[in-house]
Amino acid sequence: MNIILLGPPGAGKGTQAEVLTKKLFVPHISTGDMFRAAISNGTALGVEAKAYMDKGQLVPDAITVGIIRDRIAQNDCKGGFLLDGFPRTVVQAEALDELLEKLGMNIDAVLNFSVPLDKLIVRLTGRRMCRGCGTIYHQLYHAPQKEGICDSCGSELYQRSDDKEETVKNRLSVYEAQTAPLIDYYEAKGLLKTINGDQPINEVMKALGAALGQEW
Ligand code: ADP
Ligand code: ADP
Ligand code: ZN
Repeated sequence: MNIILLGPPGAGKGTQAEVLTKKLFVPHISTGDMFRAAISNGTALGVEAKAYMDKGQLVPDAITVGIIRDRIAQNDCKGGFLLDGFPRTVVQAEALDELLEKLGMNIDAVLNFSVPLDKLIVRLTGRRMCRGCGTIYHQLYHAPQKEGICDSCGSELYQRSDDKEETVKNRLSVYEAQTAPLIDYYEAKGLLKTINGDQPINEVMKALGAALGQEW
């Protein structure tokens, strides 16, 4: 299955993707994670992406489409993939359609996470990430057993620099202006399935399963 997770920052895409990737046996492809990996490896891509990410702006389409083009062409995507945080603009969505057509692939479903704006701010400012394995936590909603330490790998948790309140507000307005139009784009293609993301993590998982015709 070829699936896109769509929704504003903080909607729960990454959290659900951690589980979906195991249930569906498809790779989890997060452009945000790819950029963060490039930043911590100090590559030229990382240096360029960081300038945009720190301001809460999108990394330019040409760069982002380029990394997705390389990633989707890899062998592990032949049996399906789970895109998280891509596409984020209509230009990216059109480039993806073109890319998949050339590869003889198509999108099966676009899962659109719906969460009210005020809840997104609380989710993003309370988000903590593991430095070692990338597992996503929340200070209140998904706290680790030991404060500041990852349950899975024991590494330190940190707050993403773009999860500070000022940058969060900017990211949410960038979402409204540049990413929200994708809802109509995929609705028109008959691929959109909207999920209520404003419920506990395991309930969201069940709703995603129902949308995909699975019972979880
Ligand atoms: P979140 O999960 O909170 O929405 P991500 O980890 O997906 O955040 O993205 C973090 C940042 O990386 C974005 O604010 C943006 O700067 C950049 N980024 C990630 N994906 C894309 C994309 N598809 N197009 C442009 N920029 C992106
Ligand atoms: P996204 O990838 O869409 O930006 P994340 O999966 O990183 O969103 O989730 C953002 C924050 O909200 C994280 O701190 C996560 O632990 C928390 N979170 C995710 N899903 C839920 C949920 N259903 N209820 C409450 N908090 C959630
Ligand atoms: Zn960890």
